[in-house]
Amino acid sequence: MSYRAWFQCINPQCGATYPLNRIVYHCEQCHALLEVQHDLQALSRRGAAAWMKLFEDRYKSNEWPYGSGVWGKKEWVLPQIDNQNVVSLYEGGTNLFWAERFGKLVGLDDLWIKLCGNTHSGSFKDLGMTVLVSQVKQMIAEGAPIKAVACASTGDTSAALATYCAAAGIQSVVLLPRGKISLAQLIQPVANGALVLYLDTDFDGCMKLVQEITRDPTLYLANSMNSLRVEGQKTVGIEIVQQFDWEAPDVIIIPGGNLGNVSALGKGLLMLKDLGLIAKLPRLVVAQAQKANPLYRAYLRNFETFEPIRAEKTLASAIQIGNPVSYEKAVRTLRAFQGIVEQASEEELADAAALGDRTGMFNCPHTGVALAVLLKLLKAGKIDKAERVVVISTAHGLKFVEMKVKYHQRELEFACRHANQPLELPARLDAIKDALDRSLRQQADRKA
Ligand SMILES: *Cc1c(COP(=O)(O)O)cnc(C)c1O
Ligand SMILES: [Zn+2]
Repeated sequence: MSYRAWFQCINPQCGATYPLNRIVYHCEQCHALLEVQHDLQALSRRGAAAWMKLFEDRYKSNEWPYGSGVWGKKEWVLPQIDNQNVVSLYEGGTNLFWAERFGKLVGLDDLWIKLCGNTHSGSFKDLGMTVLVSQVKQMIAEGAPIKAVACASTGDTSAALATYCAAAGIQSVVLLPRGKISLAQLIQPVANGALVLYLDTDFDGCMKLVQEITRDPTLYLANSMNSLRVEGQKTVGIEIVQQFDWEAPDVIIIPGGNLGNVSALGKGLLMLKDLGLIAKLPRLVVAQAQKANPLYRAYLRNFETFEPIRAEKTLASAIQIGNPVSYEKAVRTLRAFQGIVEQASEEELADAAALGDRTGMFNCPHTGVALAVLLKLLKAGKIDKAERVVVISTAHGLKFVEMKVKYHQRELEFACRHANQPLELPARLDAIKDALDRSLRQQADRKA
């Protein structure tokens, strides 16, 4: 059976198509974004039950590359790639856990967290980068004159690009906004041998510059306007449904910045529906930081107009984006999924992340945005407490310890009501016993 995929212009009046090995990021006819389209007719010949069985058989197996959560769905992702060109670090297959205690605290029985940060470079960006770098490797093998792969980043895209390029032996170039990413995010591409360009601008400024330099066809662009990444990232929605034994949840909440990921989530879910693996679609919620909320503002105007903003500094630094590249795709997705957009203030996101941590999570601030939005939507009655809700946790909390340190040292501009501080004591038994007595008594008082 031969399956095919190609780039297609998202403008329905145009619909121009291009092969996946063409170096093209915008439609050459009308300049709209492109997306990867699949031959759904060929895919539908296999039947829903047969796809489910195939995906189950491959899931987390050791049969390379199909044990990867992305490449286990290869026919739906990038069917024409040679397995020898696949650059995989066994991404995907991340745990989806029942957040029982957090759910109880907020009055929700059926709350689940999809931990996309439990992966190679610590964020969901791995899902897309394995696809993009594999395609680049294939193009180089076919003789394309690509010398390096470049991206602008708020820290996680660059970490993923650098690690996959290092695994493939391809040079990476990353443009980062100075002082606006975490220390872990800076050292990741440094360690992986990327050319790290640390610039006095914000993400939107880096994005403009990388589009300029990648006009040179020997520098391939790895940002999510390159829709190859969306193909890998769309497996997160498919995987969630698979983990629920092929049943879609009621609601999925996802933090959004450049808005590639919500578009990807929607694309995977629509493919499941089109190919008959699920009957109903979940509702999708995009959670934005109030300091970087251009989608939320457009949502309040019913998406009639869009205005880029200058994103302000936010603890949720990976979504500090004022001019999201995938805005159009995100709006299309939200319209198809009864979408909601909600925002969270700095205090709301930090407290929600910390409250989650108190129930056994270790949240990044972006996951905090999503959890805060969940609390607000529950309160507003827009999510019912009987619904099955999945929160997408986009990165590992260990990449964002600076933010957590500031929170627990109460160095932020708000109360930090869940702060917890280490006690500095002399190394003596009596001092420790005193501290234990005091602390355990306080806890008993609080419970009483
Ligand atoms: C990239 C990123 C996001 C936002 O995804 P978009 O596709 O830009 O909307 C959210 N959280 C984390 C941790 C990220 O790295
Ligand atoms: Zn076009």
